[in-house]
Amino acid sequence: MLDNLTNRLAHVVKTLRGQARLTEENIAEMLREVRMALLEADVALPVVKDLIARIKEKALGQEVIASLSPGQALVGVVQQQLTEIMGGSQSALNLATQPPAVILMAGLQGAGKTTTVGKLAKYLKEKQRKKVLVVSCDVYRPAAIAQLQTVAGQAGAEFFPSEISQKPVDIALAAIDFAKRHYLDVLLVDTAGRLTIDEQMMLEIQQLHAAIKPIETLFIVDAMAGQDAVNTARAFNEALPLTGVVLTKLDGDSRGGAALSVRHVTGAPIKFTGVGEKLSGLDEFHPDRMASRILG
Ligand code: GDP
Repeated sequence: MLDNLTNRLAHVVKTLRGQARLTEENIAEMLREVRMALLEADVALPVVKDLIARIKEKALGQEVIASLSPGQALVGVVQQQLTEIMGGSQSALNLATQPPAVILMAGLQGAGKTTTVGKLAKYLKEKQRKKVLVVSCDVYRPAAIAQLQTVAGQAGAEFFPSEISQKPVDIALAAIDFAKRHYLDVLLVDTAGRLTIDEQMMLEIQQLHAAIKPIETLFIVDAMAGQDAVNTARAFNEALPLTGVVLTKLDGDSRGGAALSVRHVTGAPIKFTGVGEKLSGLDEFHPDRMASRILG
């Protein structure tokens, strides 16, 4: 993933690493290349501007100019600023509450919510020894409820059944009650999505959020969606107090810009990335590692 960005930047990085001396000219040249690479990778323009401004400020600073290998130092600055813009350090899932820790999943249909519920359930069970309950509040698509049941079985999580005749809020509250009575640690709440953002869907998830007061409200977004990912992120962020982001489908032919933009637009940390359809395909997100990967 992020191949386009990596290829463009790799060229700049290679040139710079060999530079014994940095001039305003070759810094400007480097910034132009970085800017082009970011735009081509579908990073949103305000994010690109912000990033370039930060790199420029640091690059012209004494620690770069005066260093023994200024080219190398400049690459370090780019890496550091990429890391910063993706949130700096790793941000863990917050489960510190009276059980069950309720996690609400939000996002468009097809973003990978149900798959991510399965992946998270498996992660929580295997890595954190949690007892996990999952529930679907998608009362529009019986197939979605069935899909979640299958995924729960694969993940070894408990499945709370729901009927399409019920209201999403009632389903979720009943699931919380069940989790309390059965001493389950975490409740993952899958929700309905639409192919595009619509007001009714937003209202429904806002009501759900108000009723269940989740400790985590995760925005699930398809990394392949490019600029659309940014617009969707903005809309969900206005509707809900997002606490984290899961970037899915990083395995595909992703241009990767979403990783940089979504954090900037929502202010919420990317907590996980999803790779592939298998339930083992969930990774904690480390901004520094992603920055290294981007730079190749
Ligand atoms: P939902 O509508 O948001 O619940 O999305 P689903 O979980 O049903 O996922 C939609 C499609 O994307 C399914 O075919 C999933 O197998 C696939 N999918 C989900 N996450 C990933 C991922 O990280 N990588 C890949 N390659 N496919 C994924």
